[in-house]
Amino acid sequence: MDREAERRSMIREQLERRNIRDTRVLDAMVNVPRHRFVPESLDQQAYADNALPIAENQTISQPYIVALTVAALQLEGHERVLEIGTGSGYAAAVLAQLAAEVWTIERYRSLAVSAAQRLADLDYTNVHVMIGDGTQGLPEHAPYDAIAVAAAGPHIPRSLLDQLADGGRLVIPIGNRDEQRLIRIVRTPQGLHEESLGPVRFVPLVGREGWQDEQA
Ligand code: SAH
Repeated sequence: MDREAERRSMIREQLERRNIRDTRVLDAMVNVPRHRFVPESLDQQAYADNALPIAENQTISQPYIVALTVAALQLEGHERVLEIGTGSGYAAAVLAQLAAEVWTIERYRSLAVSAAQRLADLDYTNVHVMIGDGTQGLPEHAPYDAIAVAAAGPHIPRSLLDQLADGGRLVIPIGNRDEQRLIRIVRTPQGLHEESLGPVRFVPLVGREGWQDEQA
């Protein structure tokens, strides 16, 4: 099977079957070459239905979880998006296909540097990779129409809520180290509206408004 056929089957079996219906999201994920974001030794598993290890003891998220998160952001194409936890850069590439401008923050320099290189090699010119503590957001480019957090914290960082535009959506896993719920917050004229998208398991969000260290 060629790589695009693998992606089409990933979309059918892993996403459509689990009720991801947003055609813009599905098309974006057909276009992003996920195999370019996984370690070479795991090339044959690039389109498997699970997260995979990357450097620094981190992971590239499961395709379904990326789709669920991105679909919940309800992007139309004109948005300014912030992602916390660049990791491999895979989700940032998916977001870049669906929004106008993407800023993504990673706390490990080595991951940020290789993700930025990968995204440049693939000609994603609307993604900006930053190094730092994403729990503080990125005030210089705020407000954001959508914020996606790819690591799990004990509570919703105040700084991220402060940087969410009116009508903006924030998707973040919240819970303890072992299990979390994926939460979507929408900023409405009546205030913040919160709902759960289901149980998930992410690597820890480590920073000032997250966990203080990486220990499980
Ligand atoms: N979106 C990524 C998933 C990476 S896993 C992908 O598609 O590959 C989550 C990432 O969040 C890890 O790389 C981890 O180092 C990073 N991370 C954890 N806490 C962070 C913080 N406070 N700021 C920025 N990045 C953080």
